[in-house]
Amino acid sequence: MPQDTRPPAASPLTDRPRDLPWLTRLADAVLGARGCLLTFHRGASGREWSGLPNRNFYLNLDFLDRLLAYLSRTDWDIVTIGEAVRRAGSPGLATKFVNFSIDDCYRDTYEAVVPVFRRHNVPVTLFVTTGIPDATLPLAFAGLEQLLLRDRVRLEHGEMRLASDEARRAAFDRIAARWDGPAIGEHYARFCAMNDVNPDDIRRQHAISWEMLEDLSRDPLVEIGAHSVSHPHISSLAPDAAAREIGGSRERLEARLGLPVRHFAFPYGRAADCGPRDFAIARQCGFDSASTTRKGLVRAGTPVDRLPRVTLNGNQQSLFLAEGHLSGVSGFLARRLGRV
Ligand SMILES: [Zn+2]
Repeated sequence: MPQDTRPPAASPLTDRPRDLPWLTRLADAVLGARGCLLTFHRGASGREWSGLPNRNFYLNLDFLDRLLAYLSRTDWDIVTIGEAVRRAGSPGLATKFVNFSIDDCYRDTYEAVVPVFRRHNVPVTLFVTTGIPDATLPLAFAGLEQLLLRDRVRLEHGEMRLASDEARRAAFDRIAARWDGPAIGEHYARFCAMNDVNPDDIRRQHAISWEMLEDLSRDPLVEIGAHSVSHPHISSLAPDAAAREIGGSRERLEARLGLPVRHFAFPYGRAADCGPRDFAIARQCGFDSASTTRKGLVRAGTPVDRLPRVTLNGNQQSLFLAEGHLSGVSGFLARRLGRV
C-alpha cells in the first residue's frame, strides 16, 4: 500500500476502531497490550511461489502485503527488535506491537522482501547467518530446490522425471529428509556432479552478498542482527564452539558493516536447539536480546534473552491464522501440545 493511502498511525488500545476481528477484540479485552514477533526465511511473489518445491519455506509476498495492510488497519505498531526489547522492559506497556524478522538472509531478502516493508514504510529485522555472504555455506537445500525445477534430475539410483509442481514438492521433501544431517554437504556435492552443475554458480544466485548487506544497513528501516556463523544447532556444541558461533557472527557483521549488532536469533530456535546455557552465552557475548522460535507473546517483563517468536509457514496464507498468532492462541496451543 503506498504511504499516502495508509490509515492514521496506530492509536492506543483505548481508541481502537469498532470493526476489529472478534479474536483480536477478545485478545485485547483479555490480554491488552502485547507484542508478537514473527519470522520467516525467504519470500517469493504469487506465481513464482506456487511453483516452488520448498514453498512453505517462503512467504508469499502478496500475502505479506495483505498482512502489513491488515496490521496497520487493526492498530498494531510495527517495530524493531530493539524497540520490542525496550517495551518488554517497560511496566506501562500500552500498545500492541509486532516485529518481523527474516532469518538466514538470502539474495531475495535484498531483491524482493525488504522492498515490501519499504513500500509500507515499516521496519524489518534481518538476522544474518554470516556464512552465507562469506560463501562458507553450500546452501544445499536452495540448490536442491533449484535443480528440482527442471523436468528431470539424475539421482544415484537413476533418473527422476518431474512432471508437476506436486511431484517437485514431494521429491524435495523426500530428498531433503534423506540429506538432513552432518553429511549434507557430501550428498549435495554428489547431486551437483551427477547433474552437471557447479554448486558455486547456484550459491551465487541465492546468497546475499556483503555489498547488498552494506546497502541494506544504510536503510533506517532495516535493523541488522546476528544468526550465527554456520547455522548449527547451538545446544549440540561445546561451550567454546557455541560462543564462537554466537559471538563470531556479531564480530563479523560489526567489522564488515561498521555498526553495532545488539540482537541475536538462535538457529532453528526450538527448545531442543537452545537452552539456558546458550542464553547465558549470548548474554556474555554482549547481546541485548536473543530470540528463539518458541511460540508466545511478549508482555511487560518477558525475559529478553529468550524472546518468543512465531515462524510464518509459507503454506498458511490466512489472516485468521495470523490473528491466532497475534492473539496468543497459537502459542497457547503449542505449549499445551508440547510443541516447543
Ligand atoms: Zn535460520
